[in-house]
Amino acid sequence: MSLMDNYGRAHDDLRISVTDRCNFRCFYCMPEEGMTFLPHDEILTYEEIVRVVRLTTELGFTSYHLTGGEPLLRRDLDELVRQMFEINPKMDLALTTNGVYLPEMAKRLYGAGLRRVNISLDSLDENKFLLMTRRNVFKQVMAGIEAAAEAGFSPIKINAVALKNLTEEELPRFARWSRETGYAVRFIEYMPLDADQSWQREKVLTAEEILEGLSSEGELELVNGHPSDPATRYRYKDGKGEVGVIASVTRPFCETCNRIRLTAEGEIRTCLFSTVEHNIKTLLRGGATDEAIKKWLADVVRTKTPGHLIGQKEFVQPDRTMSAIGG
Ligand code: SAM
Ligand code: SF4
Repeated sequence: MSLMDNYGRAHDDLRISVTDRCNFRCFYCMPEEGMTFLPHDEILTYEEIVRVVRLTTELGFTSYHLTGGEPLLRRDLDELVRQMFEINPKMDLALTTNGVYLPEMAKRLYGAGLRRVNISLDSLDENKFLLMTRRNVFKQVMAGIEAAAEAGFSPIKINAVALKNLTEEELPRFARWSRETGYAVRFIEYMPLDADQSWQREKVLTAEEILEGLSSEGELELVNGHPSDPATRYRYKDGKGEVGVIASVTRPFCETCNRIRLTAEGEIRTCLFSTVEHNIKTLLRGGATDEAIKKWLADVVRTKTPGHLIGQKEFVQPDRTMSAIGG
């Protein structure tokens, strides 16, 4: 059984935000100051999240991501990982993190069964890292990446947001780094999910420009991936280094989208750019049966729109920032 929307897209991927809090203030994601966070009792408990995972697994979901905010700020995240694998030991589970707490947590997460980690790192230059994240913790993130590698995580994927007039010189730098270390680096086009609503199309370093910048280090060839993987992957022809682009703005992949999202306070979103949310917490805390929730989820998926409208005049930027949705 799978959850089908009205456009023939089957859904089997859930991104779960475990917290809206973060220890960074990346300028493209959060305001520098004045962010208000959810009170603890409004955030889904692990028990509630695990129930959603069980019900979606029964509906055919096989792929899950843990994200936030910064997911490693949530205490004992390895416990959630362990409980998720008890539901389906073969589940494809990944964590997206800014990496600062990986030195403490990498081994515990690996011990709980996690094998895939995506670490966000926008720049290999310490000063630019500070400018973009507004936190002076470059060395801790690098230590986090090393801790993940030592714990056994493989592949390690690095996510870098690409911005015009800011991160062009990161492209060859990251390419060389990927070729040396074997980490896969994926460049994400800047999306309109910032707190200041200062996104402009002109600030997007496009997939085309990214690939041009990466080509300076060698000839690239396409790697065949899963059709619903948002990243288009490439490797260097000499076999060393893997890079990728997530081109949500210039090459939207809505037609093959297979995911829905669960926010930290229990809203289901059918798209990153949804302006409508569906509250599952009321059902979870109101005594709804498993069958009722599964039917509700099937109805929610059918409300999904065909695609986001970034760059078109009908586009409305969501009120929430990326950190509050769960990227
Ligand atoms: N805090 C964790 C982290 O940074 O990896 C997980 C949450 S974060 C919201 C998930 C991803 O979204 C990160 O890779 C981040 O770079 C990306 N992101 C945030 N705001 C974005 C934006 N406006 N455009 C593109 N990517 C964005
Ligand atoms: Fe925090 Fe991740 Fe957003 Fe940066 S991108 S502010 S690390 S949630």
